[in-house]
Amino acid sequence: MAATIIDGKALATQVKAQVREEAAGLPRKPGLAVILVGDNPASRVYVTSKRKDCEECGFLSEEFALPATTTQKELLSLIDGLNHRDDIDGILCQLPLPQGLNEREVLLAIDPAKDVDCFHPYNVGLLTIGEPRFQPCTPGGVMEMLKTYGISPAGKRCVVLGRSNIVGKPMALLLLHAHGTVTVCHSKTPNMAELAAEADILVSAVGKTGLVTGDMVKEGAVVIDVAMNRNAAGKLCGDVCYAEAAEKASFITPVPGGVGPMTRAMLMRNTLTAARMHLG
Ligand code: NAP
Repeated sequence: MAATIIDGKALATQVKAQVREEAAGLPRKPGLAVILVGDNPASRVYVTSKRKDCEECGFLSEEFALPATTTQKELLSLIDGLNHRDDIDGILCQLPLPQGLNEREVLLAIDPAKDVDCFHPYNVGLLTIGEPRFQPCTPGGVMEMLKTYGISPAGKRCVVLGRSNIVGKPMALLLLHAHGTVTVCHSKTPNMAELAAEADILVSAVGKTGLVTGDMVKEGAVVIDVAMNRNAAGKLCGDVCYAEAAEKASFITPVPGGVGPMTRAMLMRNTLTAARMHLG
């Protein structure tokens, strides 16, 4: 039986339309500040798409494009100013930062109430105890996809490939809170293929094209490909060998058009949540 393709693009459009509708009922527009330091072309693309998403949701958006020569002190001073602005609900600093800037210190400087990326240790703590106020965007987007397609992790064997702070770890936590039995694999896991093949829900967030082959997918599994890699031809692709996996999976996400758009939509939802919080 052919796998159902999880249409992240269509779902993201729906989420943003709902966010727009809810935002229109607030006394003022939710505001998102995006800081970009240096001229990483990929980061620039992300920043442009965030601006478009803000327009689509009727948000105020402000971009701060700083030169690569920006000092830590200058960056922290900008963040401090944004922390104190009443019209800005969310602040995000596009990573990676140029060499010489301390990423940890920058993330810690963002007011946790405006940390719409959910990277601040305070928000990570809330997430860990199962009381998140912001959903980490990428894993949150995955959970939204599962919910929409009627897939419950409860009682399921969930395997997450990758343990980064941005994707793998928060993904594992959200699946655990949704009552999945979760295994996390990483570069030191000796039997990853074997573990993956036991998964009812398999989430790959490694960043290696072709990592997940058809034999690593259990018959009927749900396959979520978070990765955004470039293949030899420069085309965007995930970790999963799509055609092989789709033959066995019950549901599968494409790349592009899967998790990526949902990540962006969840950022908008978090900004709306922050605005509601700030407006009391
Ligand atoms: P990352 O920080 O580089 O983490 C990669 C993880 O994969 C690490 O935990 C690493 O293990 C593990 N790993 C590396 N090689 C492995 C192997 N051969 N077998 C098993 N595990 C292995 O990357 P990330 O930021 O989490 O991103 C992962 C992917 O998701 C990338 O392709 C990225 O572009 C994509 N991404 C997509 C979105 C989206 O919106 N769709 C958002 C964020 C990221 P160790 O911890 O042992 O090193």
